Amino acid sequence: MSPTPLEHRIKALVRLNGPMPVFDYMGTCLGDPEHGYYMAREPFGQAGDFVTAPEVSQMFGEMIGAFVIETWERLGRPAPFALVEFGPGRGTLMADLLRVARRVPAFFAAARLHLVETSPRLRAKQAATLANQPLRPTWHDRLDTLPAGPLLVVANEFFDALPIRQFEFRGRAWHERVVGLDDTGGLAFGLGPATLAEGAVPKEAGEPQDGAILEVSPVGVEIMTALAKRVVTDRGLVVAVDYGYAGPAFGDTFQAIRAHTYVDPLGRPGEADLTAHVDFTALAGAAIRAGAAVHGPVEQGDFLLGLGLAERAGRLGADKDETTRADIVSQVNRLVGAEEMGSLFKVLAVTPPGIAPPGFPLAPGPVAP
Ligand code: SAH
Repeated sequence: MSPTPLEHRIKALVRLNGPMPVFDYMGTCLGDPEHGYYMAREPFGQAGDFVTAPEVSQMFGEMIGAFVIETWERLGRPAPFALVEFGPGRGTLMADLLRVARRVPAFFAAARLHLVETSPRLRAKQAATLANQPLRPTWHDRLDTLPAGPLLVVANEFFDALPIRQFEFRGRAWHERVVGLDDTGGLAFGLGPATLAEGAVPKEAGEPQDGAILEVSPVGVEIMTALAKRVVTDRGLVVAVDYGYAGPAFGDTFQAIRAHTYVDPLGRPGEADLTAHVDFTALAGAAIRAGAAVHGPVEQGDFLLGLGLAERAGRLGADKDETTRADIVSQVNRLVGAEEMGSLFKVLAVTPPGIAPPGFPLAPGPVAP
């Protein structure tokens, strides 16, 4: 197989400048304006590379909609407000959310729709999906251009798509993991100079063994910090759903998926989806340091069932035939089953202090390190 355009480019860059951090490799493979994965490929659905919760079932976006509307009530029904989605994919979640929102006229009338999406190709998809309803979206490349005032932010499988830095513990020091060339000229992982002191790593992660991997998501933390500040000053909500862990923990979660199969992340640059598991403790810590209240993370299964997913499924199936009812049951299982998306996926919500959104236990949230 001939090398991908990005493979050519990355190898040339490495020959010129030396190995590049995993962060740069991941950012280029996903976001290169011409050949990046999200710019050039169709990631979603059976014919694509992976299936996300909104693509599994309309009930996912409906439950997120019910959650956002109830939180808006608890925030004192701010109006107007920005309804924001980060990384809306095909626009499916937002379409399902808005169908629920239209039944709450005061919410719907106050909502201004803003989508943060870097891929022109996916923006076009989102525009088509959202064409049959009256709220016209405004698109943004970055959060800086979002309007001032209250904002309710939804992000499903967004934070896992942001580039991470990886550090490997060798000889009592943390070295940045890099992508370079092996003897045959192929892409290979390597280690850069020791850039992190031993003590720079959270103690809660335990004593690192040689070869331990530490991951950080500088962009994810930056985005969460900015959003949490906005939530505190202008009021609002951030709800992030993703696969990940309550860290800090060591481990290599940098992965590539193509056609529903795990593949070598260095194999076909630009042609596979590259992701990393989300460190929810790091995101929660950023929000707490910004002065916000953090709820969760809780497992997606508990969250959806707590909000009434089973009852919703019952109503949806009530007047349907046997086959459709069986489909609905299998969708519920995919969303909440412990072996499916129910446990690995987690939900984190960020609000101003003193607001308790539905779907989370009332116990105090994690404390910033
Ligand atoms: N939320 C959707 C899609 C998840 S895939 C779903 O659940 O189906 C990740 C999405 O984030 C894609 O729409 C991708 O184009 C977008 N994205 C990735 N990096 C981004 C960035 N830095 N800024 C804005 N959007 C980004």
